[in-house]
Amino acid sequence: MIRDLELLRTEDFKSKVRQCIHCGLCLEACPTYAVFGTEMDGPRGRVALMRAASEGKVGLEDFREALAPHIMLCLVCRACETACPSGVQYGALVEMARVVVEHNRTPGLAERFLRWLGTQQLMPRLGLLKMIARLMWLYQVIGLQHLVRALNFLPKTLGAMEGILPPIVPRFADYRRPAPATATRRGTVFFFAGCIQEAFLAQVNQATIRVLQHNGYQVCTPQAQTCCGAPHLHLGDLETARKLARRNIDAFLAQEGECEAVICNAGGCGLTLKEYPHLLADDPIYAPLASKFATQVKDVTEFIADHFHVPPRGEVKARVTYSDSCHLRHGQKVVKQPRELLKGIPGLQYVELQFPDRCCGSAGVYNIAQVDTANEVLDAKMADIAATGADLIVTSNTGCQMQLIAGVRRAELKAKVMHVVEVLDLSYRYSGSGSHDVGSREEDSSQALANENPTAR
Ligand code: SF4
Ligand code: SF4
Repeated sequence: MIRDLELLRTEDFKSKVRQCIHCGLCLEACPTYAVFGTEMDGPRGRVALMRAASEGKVGLEDFREALAPHIMLCLVCRACETACPSGVQYGALVEMARVVVEHNRTPGLAERFLRWLGTQQLMPRLGLLKMIARLMWLYQVIGLQHLVRALNFLPKTLGAMEGILPPIVPRFADYRRPAPATATRRGTVFFFAGCIQEAFLAQVNQATIRVLQHNGYQVCTPQAQTCCGAPHLHLGDLETARKLARRNIDAFLAQEGECEAVICNAGGCGLTLKEYPHLLADDPIYAPLASKFATQVKDVTEFIADHFHVPPRGEVKARVTYSDSCHLRHGQKVVKQPRELLKGIPGLQYVELQFPDRCCGSAGVYNIAQVDTANEVLDAKMADIAATGADLIVTSNTGCQMQLIAGVRRAELKAKVMHVVEVLDLSYRYSGSGSHDVGSREEDSSQALANENPTAR
């Protein structure tokens, strides 16, 4: 238990907060500053609060009462990092401040139970998550979800969790054997399947594997992998995040044979995997292993853009816009690759958002923990999307995809939400056999593909 503000009073933390020159260039980029318009709910104000705590100008009681709420309202989207000319490492700072917030408060019974269930029992156990996904599928197909949503009686947190449940396809790939290359073989990649992604958006993982196979790669998915630890970091639970990181490093480094890359298709998970060296910096055994592992991690769009051996030929007719995953854009700096991949698909009419770098409000568990602010941020995003007239919204992260599906319903838009690889997969599927009109079928095309997946079980 880390009581008091000791973590914020290290020389390293102090030097990082002092990098801020108070220029305010980050304010325009900040979604919570746009919602509240208050200095303390923007990056410059939050850095000033952390600096005051680090220099001993604020005691523990004031930190808990007056500063912590502003720290917890931050989405950790890191848009401010991209905007900052002074290189303030905002993500690392706020992550540390959150650890201090968490260690100095006592959550209520219901919150403790939900956290224990979600982050300790379910996320690290894929089998249990898949069982829940199957139950949720049943809940959807027998019409109970429709009734629950119509009656709108759930308490706020449960209602928010229910609200982001995507349409579920409970058919999961068999990862016991590698998926072979289906074109001229160019190498092997390892696949990070994720936890929520694999259970609730399994069709995205299956499309990812098919796209890699189609470009000549054998895909191996290590069985011993687990959740990346991102939700735990968001909640300030550093120790569990480190435990999960060690398990993932062991799982991937134990895999036999050469691999070109470790592929991840979720912007948030990918950033966490790439930042394992920072997370395990004080661990003499795992620090070098974390560095070795992290250099292999690539977002699927980053990898495919560099290894695009088979360009897509099938027409996908849609007006499409792309909503960046904040952690892919601001954290991993992967910006142009997903756009270039989409622009290369025949039939797609690409329209850029006015504010493509603005968060959608998902932000890890933010849309469950800070429901009202998340909804305001989401409404702004959906207004931006609506203005493009797009009937296909594409993104590249699990949480964003679920949040945008909920946003489409909330804004009453007629648009589909897909991952970049799902659209690529569609184009490959229709190569040489006409075109696919995204708006023409009620059934989501990716679900139809998942139903036909020969590796599904
Ligand atoms: S991380 Fe995002 S929400 Fe937080 S201060 Fe920076 S821009 Fe604002
Ligand atoms: S842009 Fe960077 S230096 Fe300027 S106020 Fe924001 S955090 Fe500080």
